[in-house]
Parts: sequence; structure tokens; C-alpha cells
Amino acid sequence: MFETLLGKTVLVTGASAGIGAATATEFVKATNGNIKLILGARRVSKLEELADGLKKLYPSVQIYVGQLDVSEVSKIDQFFAQLPAQYSEIDVLINNSGKALGQEKVGDIDPTDIATVFDTNVLGLIAMTQIVLKGMKKRNRGDIVQLGSIAGRWTYAGGSIYCSSKAALKSFTEAMRKELTSTKIRVIEVAPGNTKTEFALVRFKGDADRASQVYEGVDTLLPQDVAELIVFACSRRETAVIAESIIMSTNQAGPQDLYRKQ
Ligand code: NAP
Repeated sequence: MFETLLGKTVLVTGASAGIGAATATEFVKATNGNIKLILGARRVSKLEELADGLKKLYPSVQIYVGQLDVSEVSKIDQFFAQLPAQYSEIDVLINNSGKALGQEKVGDIDPTDIATVFDTNVLGLIAMTQIVLKGMKKRNRGDIVQLGSIAGRWTYAGGSIYCSSKAALKSFTEAMRKELTSTKIRVIEVAPGNTKTEFALVRFKGDADRASQVYEGVDTLLPQDVAELIVFACSRRETAVIAESIIMSTNQAGPQDLYRKQ
């Protein structure tokens, strides 16, 4: 089922936690370690922990770990310049780094938070895509997976910045797919609903009580659920693309349509 992934080079951004870490893990499991991973994020120690754990379980896996802050667009080139030669031909890019900050309403939003969210979710993702796509175009193959969100489709009060950043991702991704129909490059957007990760803790700036309320009484998705979908999409026959998919927990039907057990 996953033969097409064997020997590929996969770059995962934001692999230090949540969906990114789970995606890296699922790629290794699906290929029994016959894969090369490039893991990027700001917290290198977390990436190293993940890499060490995976190498113990799957000794054949090759993993390169590098510090990457996608919001510093002018420095992204340095990350690629440091890649060892055997990792330079990227087959799969998972643009996963992303975040929401706060839930303030328009008029009260901290301008620094607005800039950070757009720099990370939109400008960083575009910069990563532009760089990796150059090589994919030369080789006429590759998969680009964008971590969208149901918030990019359906908005909610208090989510103006996060929702619009994910809507921008969706439009960017859709237009790029139209530009690439004459190639063998696949453009994939995966849009999850509530998934239990560090996302809420980051959104509420370390306020663990507030973050835990997000998941109270809800059977949320686990990062592995999203990771399995990503790996499935990337392992299809090269002439089939799962262009867009929404994945939510069974008790969710939209950002605010969420059944909570009392
Ligand atoms: P998470 O647990 O907070 O993980 C986010 C990852 O992004 C971390 O590895 C973090 O690593 C990385 N990151 C943050 N800022 C970065 C930067 N400037 N440069 C590089 N990496 C950065 O959240 P998650 O839920 O797994 O989120 C992953 C993606 O899924 C995001 O794009 C998010 O918008 C999307 N998503 C999440 C949910 C949800 O409910 N959890 C729902 C829909 C979509 P460092 O801090 O080490 O840099």
C-alpha cells in the first residue's frame, strides 16, 4: 500500500510537536524505515528526541535535523544551504508549521500576533513552497502537502486572523495546483478540525487551563489521525491526487459545531 514512498526524501516543517511529529513517525512506520526525513522547527532538541526514537525503532531510517523558523522568510535559504547533498532532492514537502495566537476580536488584536501568524502560516509557507518547487519542477515529480484547516473554510468570531491565514493558504494552494496540471507534481491540502496537540497551549500563550477547555468533553482527533491521512494521500498512484480533504472528529461538523459531553 505504501510502496511508492520507499526511498523518498520527505521534508516536514514543524516536526517538533503535534501533527508534524506524528507525520514524520507515520512516514517511517509506513516504509519500515526505508525513507529519508528532513525535520525542521525552532526547537531542535525536540527534533533530535524524535529522530533518536525513530532511529532506535527503525535503524535504516536516515534523518537530518535542522533549525528552521519559517516566519523569518529571509533566512529560509540558509536552512536549505546547510542540507547534506543526499537530502537535496526533496520528493515530498509537508508544510505543517503553523499557529493561532489569541482569540481577540478585530480592533483589539495585537499587531505583533497578526504579523507572527501571517509570517508563519502564509509567508513562511509560500517561501518554503517556492524553494522546494524549483527542484520538483526540474525533476517533474513531487508532492506538496499544505496543512490547512476547517478554519480556512468556515470562520468563527475571534478567529479572524487564523481563519484568514488558512483561507489564504487554501487560495494559494488551489492556484498553484492549476499552474501544475501539465506536470507530475501533486498539490495536496489537508484540512483538519480540532486535533489534540500543543496548538491550544500556543494559542493561549502557555495558559494550560484555558487550553485544556478547548478539548473538554470532546473526543478530538489525535495527531496520528491527520498523519495517516497525509501518508495515505502521498502514497497514491502518481496519476491520482487527493487534492483536498477535510478530517474532523466524529463529534465535529465545523469550528463551532462541536458536541461536548456534559
Ligand atoms: P503544535 O502542536 O503547536 O505544532 C506546531 C508545530 O509548528 C511545532 O512543531 C512548532 O515547532 C512549529 N512551528 C511553530 N512556529 C514555527 C516557526 N516559526 N517556524 C517553524 N516551525 C514552527 O500544533 P499542530 O496542531 O500540530 O499544528 C500543525 C498544523 O496543523 C498547523 O499548521 C495548524 O494550523 C494546523 N491545524 C491544527 C489543528 C488543531 O486543532 N491542532 C486544526 C487544523 C489545522 P517549534 O515551536 O519548535 O518551532
